[in-house]
Amino acid sequence: MAKIIAMMNQKGGVGKTTSSVNLAACLAVAEKRTLLIDLDPQGNGSLSIGLAKETFKEKNIYHALIGQIDLKEAIYESELPFFHICPSDNNLSGAEIELVSLFARESKLKNAFKSVDKDYDYIIIDCPPSLGLLTVNALNAAHSYIVPMQTEYLAMEGLAQLLNTVRLIRTSLNPNLELDGILLTMYDSRSGLHKQVATEIKTHFGDTVFKTIIPRNVKLAECPSFGKPIILYDIESKGSEAYLALAKEIILKERFKGNTEASKESGS
Ligand code: ADP
Ligand code: MG
Repeated sequence: MAKIIAMMNQKGGVGKTTSSVNLAACLAVAEKRTLLIDLDPQGNGSLSIGLAKETFKEKNIYHALIGQIDLKEAIYESELPFFHICPSDNNLSGAEIELVSLFARESKLKNAFKSVDKDYDYIIIDCPPSLGLLTVNALNAAHSYIVPMQTEYLAMEGLAQLLNTVRLIRTSLNPNLELDGILLTMYDSRSGLHKQVATEIKTHFGDTVFKTIIPRNVKLAECPSFGKPIILYDIESKGSEAYLALAKEIILKERFKGNTEASKESGS
């Protein structure tokens, strides 16, 4: 069964798409079968791994969500083995309204995953910058979520609202939803402000902040225009290093959790 992770933060420009694409690619490098779900109508994730819009116009996440096709039919291969993507385009922006009238509207994505769940080790969902029905679908379908945060002034603004949404999802839809971690992004170690904000976030969240910090790295901003994840664009870059470290942190966390659960069951 796939581990399903939602990359969420209702703020735009905090690194959700960059982190979704590059974490997914790095998990695939470790030969984890990985599916990236682009759940943002802007479709940046889809374009940044080099899929041409024309190829997925008729079959993408929108058609799967409204039940026109099976999710399997909306999955495309990428240049990288083990790395598949279910793309989106701007017709997804209409889905939020179309879904409202449908039965079990919060569970469309969760139900769509049933046909692909066993084909993957990880499913990473790139959420839109809102807490609307698409993000609710992502959090309902996910086992856990990651919150990317820029180490800038007002980084934690909006956080109460985000946590409130998560609380509502946990009480009404998905009681097992866990926080995987807060991911610090676009960090500039030379900036006093960045250092200060990073310290504040760590004080506030303690161990739930990922050890891996994503540095500001121009290669990460460049690689989408070449249609490649960072690992294929420049393996020597700081960006590659950081997302590989994040993939490792996530894989090891899962393994550690598996071990402690197994030892609990055996009574040791
Ligand atoms: P979101 O999906 O949260 O809106 P993006 O991942 O699209 O955020 O990032 C916003 C912008 O910042 C994009 O132009 C992206 O290329 C750039 N960016 C993201 N992460 C980094 C980074 N670590 N270093 C440099 N630029 C980055
Ligand atoms: Mg985005």
